[in-house]
Amino acid sequence: MHLQIAIDGPAASGKTTVARATARRLNALYLDTGAMYRALAYLALRTGTDVDNGAALARLLAASPIEVHLDREAPLGFRISAGGQELDEAALQSNEVTAIVSAVSAHAEVRSAMVRAQRRIAEGAPVVMAGRDIGSVVLPDAPVKIYLTASAEARIARRRAQLEESGVNVNARRLAAEIEERDRLDETRTVSPLAPAPDAHVIDSSDIDAAGVVDQICKLASSKLASRMSS
Ligand code: C5P
Repeated sequence: MHLQIAIDGPAASGKTTVARATARRLNALYLDTGAMYRALAYLALRTGTDVDNGAALARLLAASPIEVHLDREAPLGFRISAGGQELDEAALQSNEVTAIVSAVSAHAEVRSAMVRAQRRIAEGAPVVMAGRDIGSVVLPDAPVKIYLTASAEARIARRRAQLEESGVNVNARRLAAEIEERDRLDETRTVSPLAPAPDAHVIDSSDIDAAGVVDQICKLASSKLASRMSS
C-alpha cells in the first residue's frame, strides 16, 4: 500500500496549507476533499438543485461527475472540474458556495459517492488527503492520521487571509458566524459527523506555524514507516 496521510479538522484549522506542504515535503500527491463538496455545491447553485434533496444532488453528481486530477504544480495543488468546467479557488471559495456546502455534504447519498471517488483517487500513489472524515471513513487504514485544530481567533484570522488572497469579499463578523455555523452543522450531522478518529494524533496549531506542524507530521510519518519496516 502507498503512504497515506489523513488530515482532518474543523473549518479553517489550516488543513489545506499543512496538507499541501506535507505532500511537497514527502513527494506525495495532495487532495483537499472539501473542494469536491464545494464543486457539488457550485453545481447545485448553477442548476438550481435543492440542497436539502439528497437524491436530487446524487443524480446531479451522477450526471455531471466531478473530475479530479492530482497535479502538485496546479494552482490549487490539484485540478478539479464539475460538469466539464474547471473550477478555480474564487469559484470554490465564494460566499454563495460556502453558505450551502455543509447542507450539500450532509446527505448519505452524496457522501457515499464522494467517499468511493476519494478512495479510488488514493489508490494510485502516495497521498496526503485533507477533509473531515478521511481518517475515520475514507482511509481508515491510513498509517498517519492527524486531527488539526486551532483556536477560533487563529482560524478566523487564517480564513480571512486566505479569502483576501483569493479575491473573495470578507466581512469579519460574518466570517466568524459562518465558521461557527459550518462546524456546528458538520459536527452534528447524522452521517460521518466531524470528530477525530480514535487513533488520530491531535495537533493544536494555534501557536505553531504551518512549517512547525508539517515538521511534526513528517516525524510521525517517518516513525510509522520505520516501525512498519521493522515489523
Ligand atoms: O474543507 P472545506 O472547508 O473547504 O470543506 C467544505 C465543507 O465540505 C465542510 O464544511 C464540510 O461540510 C464538507 N466536507 C465534508 N467532508 C470532507 C471534506 C469537506 O463533509 N471530507
